[in-house]
Amino acid sequence: MVHPVYADLPTTIFEEMSGLARQTGAINLGQGFPDDPGPIALRRKAGEALLTGTNQYPPMRGLPALRQAVAGHYGRTQDLDLDWETEVTVTSGATEALAAAFLSLISPGDEVVLFQPLYDAYLPMVKRAGGVPKLVRLTPPHWRFDQAMLEAAFSDRTRLVVLNTPLNPAGVVTPDEDLALLAEFCVRHDVIAVCDEVWEAVVFDGRRHRPLIGYPGMRERTVKIGSAGKMFGMTGWKVGFLCAAPALTKALAGAHQFLTFTTPPNLQEAVAFGLSEPGDWFEAMPAGLQRSRDRLETGLTAAGFQVLDSGGTYFLNIDLAASGVTEDDRTFSLRAVRDHGVASIPVSAFYAQDPVRNILRLCFAKADDTLDEAVRRLAAARG
Ligand code: PMP
Ligand code: GLN
Repeated sequence: MVHPVYADLPTTIFEEMSGLARQTGAINLGQGFPDDPGPIALRRKAGEALLTGTNQYPPMRGLPALRQAVAGHYGRTQDLDLDWETEVTVTSGATEALAAAFLSLISPGDEVVLFQPLYDAYLPMVKRAGGVPKLVRLTPPHWRFDQAMLEAAFSDRTRLVVLNTPLNPAGVVTPDEDLALLAEFCVRHDVIAVCDEVWEAVVFDGRRHRPLIGYPGMRERTVKIGSAGKMFGMTGWKVGFLCAAPALTKALAGAHQFLTFTTPPNLQEAVAFGLSEPGDWFEAMPAGLQRSRDRLETGLTAAGFQVLDSGGTYFLNIDLAASGVTEDDRTFSLRAVRDHGVASIPVSAFYAQDPVRNILRLCFAKADDTLDEAVRRLAAARG
């Protein structure tokens, strides 16, 4: 018998929509990945490391060069003072980092506070670890939480809270005021925060990413998760980071050693290079994506769609109801990919209960022509 969590688990919406896009030859603005091949200097470095470097197991917690580069990068960009030896672990993507965090920090019966819309990997992993999910429901257009919502979710059994900022699929950056409120709750209830910050480098309009680990009382009780795949726009690379105080890191690394043990050394070497010598990457990359966001937004607005603000991530959302579409997001999304050649993601897929059904997520990390053609096709789908 399979474990109940997996018995009826559907294939992820990303795989479903990319599968339909492949079958139909549609433009794929569904699953979030750039069509740009990624920085050539990093790819070269990875290629050289593959041919001339070692292909044997690297150290379990990651190459020292990469862990130093991660600590250095967060020191420069987020004012953090991480000790690379005791506070940084390299994982096979943020997905493995999340699994290691949930496995090592949740005991059966522990309550775990999560915010909907939620990235689809969280809930099955939290439940498999024995956690009891307590969901806070965020809604458009601002996707914010407040004191009353947190009070309803936190109890003396709360052990963990999972925060994703910038938030996929909403495309918003959690405001400082909300982060401060959440930090207060974590301290008051003695709760650990698992912060999925994979989109931290992809923020727009002069915003700065603020990590929850930097808030008062959070340094010892936060697990900060990053992803080189997102930082460098190469989503297949699957190099992630777990950053946390030494006592937490010991537990996290304990889980990591029996999940994957290590991550390919050549990719680690290339990411270490990218973080140590970024040039203007961390300015140019979000600036380019911001232009793409603006292009898609301008096109959609001219075609009569109402869009929501996007302050970060690769995603822009359409409010279908406000755009005159009466179908729900999934029905529209399936019709758009099958009949009009454009794939998207229905945001209702990110809710476990009481879904918001009128928001459609589009990935704008694509060439201008692709975005323009997608707008034409979406306009045709709207009728
Ligand atoms: N968390 C969020 C919010 C994501 O959007 C993604 C991937 N897009 C991940 C985790 C997984 O990251 P990785 O590919 O590094 O495993
Ligand atoms: N994070 C990507 C997205 O939101 C997809 C990741 C995946 O396919 N598992 O589109």
